[in-house]
Amino acid sequence: TSETSLQFLNSLNAAQLQAVIHAPTAPLQIMAGPGSGKTKVLTSRIAYLILHHLLPPSSICAVTFTNKAANEMRERLGKLIGKQRTSEVRMGTFHALCALFLRKLSDAVGIKSNFTVCDADESKKIISGLLKPYKDYMSSKDISLKDGTVLSLISKAKAKGLTAKDFIAEYRKPGKAPSSAFDPQDDIQHIVGNIYQDYEKSLRRSNSLDFDDLLLFGVKLFAGHPPATSWCSHVLVDEFQDTNMTQYELLRALGAATNGCVTVVGDPDQSIYGWRSAEVENLAKMNKDFVGTQQIYLEENYRSTASILKASLAIVSQDKSRIPKRLLTSHPFGTTPVLLSFASEQAEATFIAVEIKRLVASMGGVLRWSDFAVLLRFSALSRAIESALQKEAIPSAILGGHKFFERQEIKDILAYLQLVDNPNFNPALIRAINIPNRGVGEKSISALVARADKTKMSPFEVIELIYDSKQPDIKPAMKHKVGPFVRTVRALRKLATEGASPPDLVQRLLDLIEYEDHLKKTQPDWESRWENVQELITFASDVEHTVNLPNSDSIDPNLIPSDTPLRLFLQASMLSSEGDHHREEDGQEKVTISTCHAAKGLEWPVVIIPAVEQGTFPFYRTDDVQEERYVEVLYGTTKKRRLLYVACTRAQSLLYLSHVSKRKFGGETKTKEISEFVATATREHSTIFTSRTSQLPAAERDVISRVLRRPLAQEAEVTRRVTEFRKTRRYLDFNDAGQPEVPWHPASGLSPESPRQIGSPVNS
Ligand code: ATP
Ligand code: MG
Repeated sequence: TSETSLQFLNSLNAAQLQAVIHAPTAPLQIMAGPGSGKTKVLTSRIAYLILHHLLPPSSICAVTFTNKAANEMRERLGKLIGKQRTSEVRMGTFHALCALFLRKLSDAVGIKSNFTVCDADESKKIISGLLKPYKDYMSSKDISLKDGTVLSLISKAKAKGLTAKDFIAEYRKPGKAPSSAFDPQDDIQHIVGNIYQDYEKSLRRSNSLDFDDLLLFGVKLFAGHPPATSWCSHVLVDEFQDTNMTQYELLRALGAATNGCVTVVGDPDQSIYGWRSAEVENLAKMNKDFVGTQQIYLEENYRSTASILKASLAIVSQDKSRIPKRLLTSHPFGTTPVLLSFASEQAEATFIAVEIKRLVASMGGVLRWSDFAVLLRFSALSRAIESALQKEAIPSAILGGHKFFERQEIKDILAYLQLVDNPNFNPALIRAINIPNRGVGEKSISALVARADKTKMSPFEVIELIYDSKQPDIKPAMKHKVGPFVRTVRALRKLATEGASPPDLVQRLLDLIEYEDHLKKTQPDWESRWENVQELITFASDVEHTVNLPNSDSIDPNLIPSDTPLRLFLQASMLSSEGDHHREEDGQEKVTISTCHAAKGLEWPVVIIPAVEQGTFPFYRTDDVQEERYVEVLYGTTKKRRLLYVACTRAQSLLYLSHVSKRKFGGETKTKEISEFVATATREHSTIFTSRTSQLPAAERDVISRVLRRPLAQEAEVTRRVTEFRKTRRYLDFNDAGQPEVPWHPASGLSPESPRQIGSPVNS
């Protein structure tokens, strides 16, 4: 290792350096606040293990929370150790890691290597079918349980490692006598327990695993089958605070295989998934499971100005159960975060668009579109924002909005390919058989599935037999109806076995089922859907070229059935997580619109958080209050306050929060109040927010340029840009008293009589 290659150590502070060079064989926990360089330390430690301790890159396992985070880490690591070595490091989510090894070593846990990953959408459909028999009973008891709620309850049980049997047993706890009195909680537990059992059967019959199964079977494999872990020399986990119990078991199994060569980093305050205190439990568990675990704390925040940290901490410290932590920044105070109130969501959205434009212009080139992020509690809030940005001609991209692989048209195509790979996968058959519409009704499908169950064949095999006239038909018309369907799947299967590439397979499929015509006939917005299908082809060829799944040379190759290109492609599409796939076709600068969840671990110079209201932070789905309550009663609340904290701490130099007094949502206009999280924080600390936006004084502009390490443009250049910008007429400006002056513009959605709708002070 040359000295220059270890130069990156110079960019670390003392505590960070200590963490990076900490003995590789001693288990290590780094718990620290946002922006303190945890991810930077993790990446540097990987580089140090490879460059200084000479561990083979392929023996290092780095777990990230999303694929996007894995890609970012790959990029950062590439700069430290080069692309080649980086590509050998096994880096990805727990799910991707499990899927990879389950394919390779499926026999060890009693599944077939061509299992299909069942996504939440398909799971919901299965559950919705299983719920039907309970309809009458539920309405007699005044219980409403929806497929989504049941799935989330099952998923939470699985994440805790509870099987269906355990789940039912827990409901019959000793001392909890079955009451004759009405007890909705018992009823729900009972129904969910039964559905859980049937759901599992249905998945196994379809030769499929849902996302939770990937982890559960992964634990089985890693804990009980040495070849699955023998390659591993060191495990590192980012965002450890959000690992659930099953994921922790994975870490434990891998860690045991390496004799405790484990590094985890995280921040309990940023735990936003799971349930109360799981993160604390996992920290404590780690101390027990890995003897001699050491903690290193990082206290310096390098991301945000002091004013942003102060406001963020005021919000999170309302949580009285929280363990106080020190967080310092050497950045100056900067601009006080802005808290605004608006009359309507249009006024809010217009303000956001106009303000972004104003900042870009007034910062004289220091800020670009891509420096802005609008972070939303849920993606449905994006509509008003998107259209306001569009009106102002500001380019934007949605991160983690409507997920690409959840689109109808994408699922149609994938269903055919899943069926080609795994003929047992019923959800795919049910979807594909009527694409394009072949008039195969629900009853016929149930009959098919029933016959398949009886004869221990897959429903697709039954259809094939009907088609080949080797089995008496269910209905004479059936053979005719399913003809093109069977021929299509067979043709694709033949191509796939001949080794056709996934993009070719998709292309051939589109021709065979005349999919473009189908879209034209059935979808008013067929053009954008057709574009998405083209995008899928691009994705398919990208997978083909990169295949940057961790390599597997250290496993005995004789054990490994080779993955077909089709299987790799399907796997990559099923495991692509929130925000992984959004188009960046032109490399153009864009404002990011994202959910708060998908923003985890990321940072932007300017962060804007609209809809900071009761009902949003914390979030209640109004029509689902009953269901939400059940989930809460059974499993505790989700980490609502922390989510706002995570969102606020993404900001480097400017932070905006806003709320409205009336919001139209789902066709209804509702009166809204400011989020209690912010209201209580401002009651205790009255100066953490300001309700005034004004031209940034020179000193504050200076801070921004220093925090971002970007030089400010010359004053003359700033003046030129501002003047040019004013000519466009769509701007917010401020009079000498610092009050906003809102020029009326038809596109702003404001009437000339109500200029004060924008930027009126919060508490007046
Ligand atoms: P989060 O909790 O939000 O995931 P984090 O602790 O992982 O945050 P990083 O993303 O690693 O923090 O770092 C935040 C920012 O601070 C990055 O831009 C990083 O480059 C910068 N940074 C971290 N450490 C240093 C340092 N010693 N010197 C300069 N910049 C640093
Ligand atoms: Mg991080």
